[in-house]
Amino acid sequence: MKNLYFALFLCALFSGTTQDIEAATPAGNAINNKFQEVNRLNWIEVYKGKLSTQIMLDFSQPIYFKKKILKDNFQLKLTFPGMHQQQFCAKQVMEKLSQLKQDGLLKNVFVLEKNKNISKVALILEFAKTREEKDKNDINKAVKIANRLLIKWCKMEDPNRLVIDIFSQEALDNLQNKNQTILYVKNDFYASDSTNTDQPLSKKKDLRIVIDPGHGGEDDGAKSFNLKEKDLALLIAKKTKTMLQDDGFKVLLTRNEDTNLTLIERSKLAEQLNANLFVSIHVNSDGGKGGAASGVETFYLDTKEFVSPTRRGGFLFMNLKKNLSILEAVDKYLKNNTQTSQQLATLIQNTLVNHLHEQSINIKDRGIKADRFRVLLRSPIPAALVEVGFLTNHKEALQLTNDMYQKNIALGIVRGINAFVDLQH
Ligand SMILES: [Zn+2]
Repeated sequence: MKNLYFALFLCALFSGTTQDIEAATPAGNAINNKFQEVNRLNWIEVYKGKLSTQIMLDFSQPIYFKKKILKDNFQLKLTFPGMHQQQFCAKQVMEKLSQLKQDGLLKNVFVLEKNKNISKVALILEFAKTREEKDKNDINKAVKIANRLLIKWCKMEDPNRLVIDIFSQEALDNLQNKNQTILYVKNDFYASDSTNTDQPLSKKKDLRIVIDPGHGGEDDGAKSFNLKEKDLALLIAKKTKTMLQDDGFKVLLTRNEDTNLTLIERSKLAEQLNANLFVSIHVNSDGGKGGAASGVETFYLDTKEFVSPTRRGGFLFMNLKKNLSILEAVDKYLKNNTQTSQQLATLIQNTLVNHLHEQSINIKDRGIKADRFRVLLRSPIPAALVEVGFLTNHKEALQLTNDMYQKNIALGIVRGINAFVDLQH
């Protein structure tokens, strides 16, 4: 079921906008009209990924902001006109971002309010200029290394999000040194806990697959014919887990019972478990359109949608030369991750539909779909979300309660995952 699912995305790609200073605020009346409805920060999340540290801000209204790099102070200043500290949840923002102070990425965080003509809030991220590393020749010694950062920003509407990715120089070097980026992504898929990413873990037992039964707890998901999506999703997920284990995979469920889990919690869980692959299982709803809609469809996280030649996203450089090849490497890496997830979605969809057809079950193939609201992983691992049928369709609702039918669905998904893993070899 849609709506309840919001994307935690890696917004991708080089937009070509690389000015250090750029006013993203429309002129004059447009602002006044917009700010008749006061913008509020709903939440802020900080996420440390393999390549980048991501800060995501979710607002109630479309976002207008100005950004500026203050080179001497090693600061990134984001100004939000029309807002007050209270609407910006200054305390929460400071708390979340102070995590990055402990990590040594940030030196300071400021949230300031100015009330000249129009009120505005400034969020200032002061990065650490240097970091300490152990001397290669003498492990008892520490050496100071200057920080060089690439900052990618991206904003979107509905949901209204501002996403800031901070790539370290080391992460970028790592990307650039792999001439064949596709190979890197492939090997990375097998070696998330290995120090040497060039050595794929070829055995299935080394792969960790996270199966995510949709919804749970207070969140029922779709409801129809006295059935709840959360219950059916869990039953199918458990069957999927057993079959994958029989095939030799390490499998974990995001929930084993009827418990509440936010999407952020699900994503963080996958990250903590060092998952190689993430598949979410849901049951569809037509949203009260009469129950005619039927069939299976699979979603993957699309990042291409965030590409825009306008002012929706771009890169900022902190003590780093503007270097087109770096941007291309980042761009390529993110594109490859989208393609890998698309491949996973395609294989799950096709094998599931084929398997059901082989069982003489006449299921409609609704195909794969790109989405930014449902498939949610900020972590660059292949991720897909399967809608295994419509709970609002009487025939499919009845089928979905059948134990044998659930097993067939699970087997179709398992075969799709196996096909994907085989293809990655
Ligand atoms: Zn759902």
